[in-house]
Amino acid sequence: MLNIVLFGPPGAGKGTQSARLLEKYHLVHLSTGDILRVEIANGTSLGLEAKSIMERGELVPDAVVIGMIKNKIDANPAAAGFIFDGFPRTKAQAAALDDMLAEKSAPIKAMLALEVNDDELMKRLLLRGKDSGRPDDANPEVISRRILEYNNKTAPLIDYYKDQDKFRSVDGIGTVEEIFESLCGVIDGL
Ligand code: AMP
Repeated sequence: MLNIVLFGPPGAGKGTQSARLLEKYHLVHLSTGDILRVEIANGTSLGLEAKSIMERGELVPDAVVIGMIKNKIDANPAAAGFIFDGFPRTKAQAAALDDMLAEKSAPIKAMLALEVNDDELMKRLLLRGKDSGRPDDANPEVISRRILEYNNKTAPLIDYYKDQDKFRSVDGIGTVEEIFESLCGVIDGL
């Protein structure tokens, strides 16, 4: 199985690149942000719980997203592999993911980290907010909060994966095609 964590701050291009990668490598895309937005659109109790947290740009509780990912992994027993996009975002999530995949003897092969500076992220997210329909993309204060949450809680995962020798840095600035080629270069060398 080819299990990959596509990592990077909000606006780094994880969603865009995931779409291309899963087509090329026939993987299942698991984006906790997308799953949460579906829950909100469906008006489920989980969606109601998550909505205000997401609108503030904070992280949804670990237990909620870990449960969601576990369900999705169990629902795809024949998958050739998974691209985890926007998950894990905390050390507790990363440890839970390792436990789930250990049960399937299919550990994470690599964490591919898209590197983009904060100014560029703010620019991209405000631009995306104009037509994504995402309330958390439209407000500079919420974007700053999301970047802060990333720096405080999520960036430490770089060391978590470095310790397992799975961290791979990829330049997230350039055209979509250039960045895709860089990602494929790393994956093909795994
Ligand atoms: P994203 O689509 O990945 O940018 O996620 C949008 C929002 O969903 C985030 O700002 C969080 O509020 C929430 N979220 C998504 N994934 C996670 C996660 N793995 N852990 C906690 N909160 C998450």
